[in-house]
Amino acid sequence: MIKPDILKMWCFCHCFEFRCQRVQEVKFIADSMLGKLAKWLRVLGYDTHYKSHYGQGVIDQLVEDGRTLLSRQEKIVNSYDNAVLLQSHDTGGQLAELKEKIGFAPDRSKLFSRCLLCNVLLEEADINEAKENVPEYVFYENMMGIRFCPSCCRYFWPGSHRERMAKKLREWGFG
Ligand SMILES: [Zn+2]
Repeated sequence: MIKPDILKMWCFCHCFEFRCQRVQEVKFIADSMLGKLAKWLRVLGYDTHYKSHYGQGVIDQLVEDGRTLLSRQEKIVNSYDNAVLLQSHDTGGQLAELKEKIGFAPDRSKLFSRCLLCNVLLEEADINEAKENVPEYVFYENMMGIRFCPSCCRYFWPGSHRERMAKKLREWGFG
């Protein structure tokens, strides 16, 4: 487990600069019990690997690749150098713990930049293709704000669902 005081001083991007500001670039792996948190980390723009089941050695490999493991299980966290133990049961509390323990400070410009299902960065949609693939009223209301996931090929646009999520983030002190 990483000691919080060390986390405040040293970054995750391995540049080893004192109080590195690039905490935003941290990549996570959420254990199988943290699916909800994984979704919200993606909403905030963080690259977050999540599976409801991890095969043998998968977590080891992902942590070795530089991801920070998030888990509520002390035994698992103690097995890795780059892991954070979360104790809260709810997402708002877990995000607050991340803020406290690793100086987690989401960049507002990265909100809603990632596909919540695939974890890949959304791209600006081709306007002609978007017109063919989203409801007409959505297209004309959001023409410049439609994004496309290159992995699952879904289209995303600002709307009431996103507004609700933004409201929730504000309640939690983010966004
Ligand atoms: Zn996707």
